[in-house]
Amino acid sequence: MKIDLKDLPQGGSTLDFELPPGSVGISPKDATVEGPLRLHLSLDRRGDEIWIRGKLHLLVVQECSRCLTDFREPLDLDFEVFCAKVHSPNVVSASLVDGEDEGVHVHDGRILSIDDEIREAVILGLSMKPLCKETCAGLCPTCGDDRNLGPCRCARAAAG
Ligand SMILES: [Zn+2]
Ligand SMILES: [Zn+2]
Repeated sequence: MKIDLKDLPQGGSTLDFELPPGSVGISPKDATVEGPLRLHLSLDRRGDEIWIRGKLHLLVVQECSRCLTDFREPLDLDFEVFCAKVHSPNVVSASLVDGEDEGVHVHDGRILSIDDEIREAVILGLSMKPLCKETCAGLCPTCGDDRNLGPCRCARAAAG
């Protein structure tokens, strides 16, 4: 995803993108994304300083941490990026992550690309313990049956 700064007006503006997950560096190891990432950006430009408020909409396929079934979940994520110009010939577009510059995205005054921030927002937005549903009954620890499908083998045996 690239924003040509000569096309970006001063003040407020919005941009919409549909991006293949791979184009922002999201690999199948990070997340299984079905279809494109839908990205809506609200930008506020003052000179070469740009505040970006982004909204991401995507569909992820995750494995339920209780019953191990794959399920799809729509994600709506918000993120913010502050972008400033840096006067260094070697920097094209990058995130500074250390020291005082934490959270500031630097650009070269020509092209802005916040792919890293988009990827990070997706990874942070994924649940560590995904559940197919809040009430997922999970697998029986004894027989391994999926208890969402009804009483497991041991429950049926106990019932006679
Ligand atoms: Zn489940
Ligand atoms: Zn069982």
